[in-house]
Amino acid sequence: MSERDYTLEPDSELRFEVEGKKEVVVLNLLKGKAEIFGTEITPEKPYSFHSGAKVAVFTWHGCSIKLKGNTEGTYIAKETPMVMYLNTHACLERLRKQADEGLAKGEEARGPVTMIVGPTDVGKSTLCRILLNYAVRMQRRPLFVDLDIGQGAIAIPGSIGAVLVERAASIDEGFSQEAPLVYNFGHIAPNSNMTLYNILVSRMAQTVQEKIVSNRKVAASGVVINTCGWVKDDGYRSLTHVAQSFEVDIIIVLDQERLYNELVQDIPFIKVVFLPKSGGVVERTRAMRISARDDRIRDYFYGIKTKYHPHSFDVRLNSVQIYKIGAPALPDSCMPADMKMDDHMTKLVKIDPSGKLQHHMLAVTLTTDPEDLLATNVAGFICVVDVDEEAGTMKVLSPQPKPLPDTILILTEVQYMDSN
Ligand code: ADP
Repeated sequence: MSERDYTLEPDSELRFEVEGKKEVVVLNLLKGKAEIFGTEITPEKPYSFHSGAKVAVFTWHGCSIKLKGNTEGTYIAKETPMVMYLNTHACLERLRKQADEGLAKGEEARGPVTMIVGPTDVGKSTLCRILLNYAVRMQRRPLFVDLDIGQGAIAIPGSIGAVLVERAASIDEGFSQEAPLVYNFGHIAPNSNMTLYNILVSRMAQTVQEKIVSNRKVAASGVVINTCGWVKDDGYRSLTHVAQSFEVDIIIVLDQERLYNELVQDIPFIKVVFLPKSGGVVERTRAMRISARDDRIRDYFYGIKTKYHPHSFDVRLNSVQIYKIGAPALPDSCMPADMKMDDHMTKLVKIDPSGKLQHHMLAVTLTTDPEDLLATNVAGFICVVDVDEEAGTMKVLSPQPKPLPDTILILTEVQYMDSN
């Protein structure tokens, strides 16, 4: 196993990737101070990184690091946008202070609601993480809203979520996922059902607003919103919908000047800021994206360090109510005259449980009334491992022990094959 020490000058970062299956790379900070995406590294503590990890160890004042294990694409970069990201944090912090002062005087003040936009693979999630980490390191309690259904950092791909960030992200496990608020969308691209996506975004914005009103510390800290990398046509319109629903104060555009200019022109009343992407952000191929989604669902059930033990049990097919949101699109000529496209996309379709459910993720809702399905957040997700139509049962993988709660399940298009 290879082992190597690296000395970093102030304002530089060591970038590396872990490639091969089952490969583990262990990092130790030997001297100085360093951080990974805004989380400080504890000296002499070993940190493990597994296959698929793409890491940047940044230092403001210089440090030395030991890496044990086989890394790929390892180099020290002297050019990073970190100073600009830190300045952005400082601006947000000024707005939080103002909000604090306003709230202390009994005014209806609120910390900045910041939205990060840009095409895929420009480091949107990473910048969210950096800004949130810097905020909690200043004793703030911001909300993180993830609307990027392609990756689904909170819960699973195909869902949108929000969590209160009370601690810096753990280096290997990210932000703590205690009590997340999750809405199920059920597809990995918003254009699969734009109507539903926008409904869920509005719903999420309303709930976040309620949280802000109810907690002064959160109100002063504000919100950081991650968005999808689809920035053209309907994707663009959906970004403007997010900005309106959340009453966003600042939009940070990563990397794409065209998008920046469009937003400046179209929403002149919101501050739009352009920031460059980091040269370290790794572009992912379609295959890598699919594999990252699989890993995310695996982590949902088993935990990042396989520290959870999901439950596997049989459920009687006639004991569950399963719905799907959105009917297959009909050509305009076949639509009843009084029916709009939107109605189709939000139509609730009852599903007869069958072998077709195999490998699909099902959202476990909190309601028994189909009328509530569009607006309800979900308790979690289960995966249909196998269906035995003859026996009238399906085997599911679930984070919770049996029985399933007596609520409606929503069929999603997201699939997962459990190989553990
Ligand atoms: P996006 O949200 O825009 O799709 P991400 O923030 O998920 O992009 O970044 C893509 C990948 O690049 C992630 O795996 C992340 O860990 C990695 N990455 C981000 N910034 C850096 C950097 N400075 N050096 C190395 N890898 C990075």
